[in-house]
Amino acid sequence: MVMSIEVVCEGYLRRDNRVLLEAHSTSSLIVGGSHNILVDTSTPALRNRLISGLRSRNLGPQDIDILICTHLHPDHVGNNDLFPNAIWYARQEENPEPFYRKVRNDVELIPGVRLIHTPGHTRGSMSVEVDTPAGRYIIAGDAFPTKDNFDKWCPPNINCDEGAALRSMKRIAYSADFIVPGHGMPFLADLDGRQR
Ligand SMILES: [Zn+2]
Repeated sequence: MVMSIEVVCEGYLRRDNRVLLEAHSTSSLIVGGSHNILVDTSTPALRNRLISGLRSRNLGPQDIDILICTHLHPDHVGNNDLFPNAIWYARQEENPEPFYRKVRNDVELIPGVRLIHTPGHTRGSMSVEVDTPAGRYIIAGDAFPTKDNFDKWCPPNINCDEGAALRSMKRIAYSADFIVPGHGMPFLADLDGRQR
């Protein structure tokens, strides 16, 4: 199966110096496999953008059958209610409500799509590893909130365990060809010349 990753809604952070004013997650679609998989749903402010992003790919919310939540901060799950028919996945450490399927171990959800535990931002942060003909994508959620965290190699400002956050960053960066950050567009995971 040939799979691809498409950003249906580009998320962003708005800061005034270091004060976070707004946060909206990126929402990514994994297509080409046996399922239509959405990863994170952004916020109500970007609801129309998410819906039109799906529509431009000839999909409606009802066509999404799997919803993966990298973690349960409100800026990543704000439009989950659009997808009542999907199976929702979150790590058990996030204490998800009973209607989520709890992920306890790293698992290959469908061939070529793996859920990996990447804690540090939160205890239950997970990333989604997807093999595509263009290379391996890792949808990292807030293990990499932005490309800046990669470029400057700094852990998320908000974290429960900085050491774990750095280990998760390393795990992702060494495995991925491309990283989809929690907020922003995919970027090349180019480790050239860096000491990690
Ligand atoms: Zn978060």
